[in-house]
Amino acid sequence: MKVGVLALQGAVREHIRMLEATGVEAVSVKRREQLNDLDGLVIPGGESTTISKMMGKYDLMEPIREMGQRGVPLFGTCAGLILLAERIEGVENAHLGLLDITVRRNAFGRQRESFEAPLMIDGVAEDFEAVFIRAPQITEAGARAEILCTVDDRIVVVRQGHLLGASFHPELTDDSRLHAHFVEMVKEAKSAHTV
Ligand code: GLN
Repeated sequence: MKVGVLALQGAVREHIRMLEATGVEAVSVKRREQLNDLDGLVIPGGESTTISKMMGKYDLMEPIREMGQRGVPLFGTCAGLILLAERIEGVENAHLGLLDITVRRNAFGRQRESFEAPLMIDGVAEDFEAVFIRAPQITEAGARAEILCTVDDRIVVVRQGHLLGASFHPELTDDSRLHAHFVEMVKEAKSAHTV
């Protein structure tokens, strides 16, 4: 099993380390051809408009969207969550437009640009220490998206079948449980396709 980490911006090595901690092979991905043999892909945080432009420039937007439509598991964190969303407040066009949610960028306000919070994530952890950095908030989860976690009544983790999104940076701690959850999704998708 091989899981890629989109390596255009963000904490790529940290995501790779987390995935490896769960026992899968993890590779950094920059080129379109590399997408072909992946069983799953992580889209890290950074700055969503910059990552989106680079995805366009390197011809990655359409093939990643197709992967998502085909049922290959995708995990977006922070800016990666914004890239997955179908709707972004104040913006006409979404990026990948796969996840049935509305997001608000930089939603946690100036005074809280960066903070840590212990989270209860359904089916994942009861005490997940999460790092939020200029984080987006999920302001609406549509019927297809299942809410896995809220903080102060704001939605911060959702799952929609083979798609997982978190507003924080799960790669910046030593806790690999959310990555392990994603790897389980990758295993499920793979066995569903090979049976
Ligand atoms: N604020 C960034 C954006 O809107 C996301 C921040 C992050 O990924 N840490 O794209």
